[in-house]
Amino acid sequence: MPTATAATLATPKKYTLPDLPYGYDEIEFLSEEILHLHHDKHHAGYVKSLNTALEDLAQARTDGELEHIKALTREVAFHGSGHALHSLYWCSMAPGGGRKPAGALRAAIDSSFGSLPAFLKQFGEASRKGEASAWGVLAYEPMGDRLLVMAYEDHQNMSFQGAVPLLVCDVWEHAYYPRYKNERGDYVDAFIKAIDWEHAAERLERARKLR
Ligand code: MN
Repeated sequence: MPTATAATLATPKKYTLPDLPYGYDEIEFLSEEILHLHHDKHHAGYVKSLNTALEDLAQARTDGELEHIKALTREVAFHGSGHALHSLYWCSMAPGGGRKPAGALRAAIDSSFGSLPAFLKQFGEASRKGEASAWGVLAYEPMGDRLLVMAYEDHQNMSFQGAVPLLVCDVWEHAYYPRYKNERGDYVDAFIKAIDWEHAAERLERARKLR
């Protein structure tokens, strides 16, 4: 086998905006206007800026000019994390409501937080109190084999490195302001009722392989 060179390696694919896993009119607690703005404009913007930052880095390598490496690396962190978290956000909720976590996810919630209500209270508070471009997060942390509630800020900050987010609630104002105005708490309560626990359970199963 010849050694792979830059010429023989496949070009990494560009990042693309995933479709919503449901119709724009199917999430009752939001609105079509919010979903169109948030997905088609905000999320699309992160994807575009992530690709641009990576192109700029490739150009900088070609030119041998890395004086802007710090700013470009930050661009990748911000827009890349924004793309990853928004992709997960769309899958963190589903049309309808009234679902409950079951099986291994429910057991992990009980052992990590004491009970489902105790988890929901902590998750709700963390989401309500996140500052600016923040996220309420349920994450699986493989070293301790436990679940954690985190509040990420600025997409890429305040994370526990290595922990895998299972479900996320976007609490930046664009996620809820057209309908909920300053009542972020009402938005968070409505989000919690629409959580897609099955999707989070599938992610937990995969994340546990990192132990
Ligand atoms: Mn957002």
